[in-house]
Amino acid sequence: MDIQNILNTQREFFLTNATKDISFRKAQLIKLKEVLKSNEDLLYEAIHKDFGKSKFDTYTTEISLIYSDIDYYIKNIEYLARPESVPTNLVNQVGFSSIYPEPLGSSLIIGAWNYPFYLSLMPLVAAMAAGNTVILKPSEVAEHTMHTMQQVLNDNFDASYLYCAIGGVPETTEILKLNFDKIFFTGSPRVGKIVYEAAAKNLTPVTLELGGKSPAIISENANLKVAAKRVVWGKFLNAGQTCVAPDYVYVDKKVKETFLNHVTSYLKKFDYKEDSEHYTKIINQKHFERLTAFIEKDKIVFGGNSNEKELYIQPTVMDQMTWDDEVMQEEIFGPILPILTFGTLDEAYRAIKSKPKPLAAYMFTNNRQEKEKFTEELSFGGGCINDTVMHLSNEYLPFGGVGNSGIGHYHGKHGFLAFSHQKSILHRATWAEPNLKYPPYSEEKLSWVKKVIEGIFK
Ligand code: NAD
Repeated sequence: MDIQNILNTQREFFLTNATKDISFRKAQLIKLKEVLKSNEDLLYEAIHKDFGKSKFDTYTTEISLIYSDIDYYIKNIEYLARPESVPTNLVNQVGFSSIYPEPLGSSLIIGAWNYPFYLSLMPLVAAMAAGNTVILKPSEVAEHTMHTMQQVLNDNFDASYLYCAIGGVPETTEILKLNFDKIFFTGSPRVGKIVYEAAAKNLTPVTLELGGKSPAIISENANLKVAAKRVVWGKFLNAGQTCVAPDYVYVDKKVKETFLNHVTSYLKKFDYKEDSEHYTKIINQKHFERLTAFIEKDKIVFGGNSNEKELYIQPTVMDQMTWDDEVMQEEIFGPILPILTFGTLDEAYRAIKSKPKPLAAYMFTNNRQEKEKFTEELSFGGGCINDTVMHLSNEYLPFGGVGNSGIGHYHGKHGFLAFSHQKSILHRATWAEPNLKYPPYSEEKLSWVKKVIEGIFK
């Protein structure tokens, strides 16, 4: 179907104001949940074909989070969409002031492949809750999931409200030439720049959910056993193909050996073998080759095996790494964990701050000053103290990057805001008409204006 035509019908539909109606938005969200529930088996099957991922993993890392966000919006939509009263300054008396959230209009959502349902449907749900129409373009890399999403959504929703388009780079390039009211993109910083440039031609507002190299910092004051367990889980979940996975470990040299022993022991304990249904395969041959090229045999302290036919890469830990190693030059996005060491935390922060701002950062310590220094000193999208990845599962926390890792936020209220314009209105009474702002002006008026503006009456 021609996307320009679909966009035209979505614009017409938006102009009917139907999507602004709160009961319409709620009904669509309820319908989406029902449609997903009744097609859940198809969703599991598609993800399994793309990643060999188990039902348990697909439910916990994708589907359950989408359901929670739908429930959150259904419950909170009246509150989120209501006009908010704010104070009115003296200059504007007699009057009152309100902020009216309004949907931006026709939105485009472009998804990434690593959690293909989650990364397409979470922004979709936010866009629907905020009253927008949507053209969704999931990633072509998770091919089966993309086709399933297209089938499930397009069979159940009218294209003038919600349409799932499929395609790769050429198709997305064409879609990006169209004039949307909002573009929400998840993917690499490289493609993020292409999307930003295309959006700039129409002054379209963007949310860019990008990636980066997210550190896990291990202090000498950490509970090393817990730290190792949580780093191993966050890193090897989805075989490391997670935007907020700890990309590398940066550990105090005094505790490195103990920490590494715990890492190795958890890697043995967790079921990450080639035939395990709870360990994900690498998405395709290209990524398999990119990742295996990072492995430096003489630095392996755990793992290092792979099977090209099965697209399997064993969780691999490499010690004695430096910033100059190949694996430290780009986001890894796979099951390879480099270990770097520092002498002091100041040294660690200096090194991290000299790199682009990461999407996430994780600090393991039980020392109060170190926790404070971490939150105050480092700039990154979001993260955890004494855990990895889990911050994104709290819908009350805004999720997004900063600098090279992204622009804007979503999840919960922040997703609603990402697809809304905050329209401000000053309501003035007509029964009072102070003459100060009107000509002719005089010294006396000026002195009154000064009193009002400089706060004598505040
Ligand atoms: P990608 O940038 O290659 O692709 C993302 C989307 O852009 C896909 O839908 C693809 O079809 C489209 N695309 C690719 N090249 C394009 C081009 N030249 N012109 C127009 N569109 C194009 O990213 P990916 O490989 O799917 O995902 C991996 C990256 O995404 C990593 O950097 C990861 O950290 C990041 N990511 C970020 C988040 C987040 O929430 N911040 C989540 C997942 C992944």
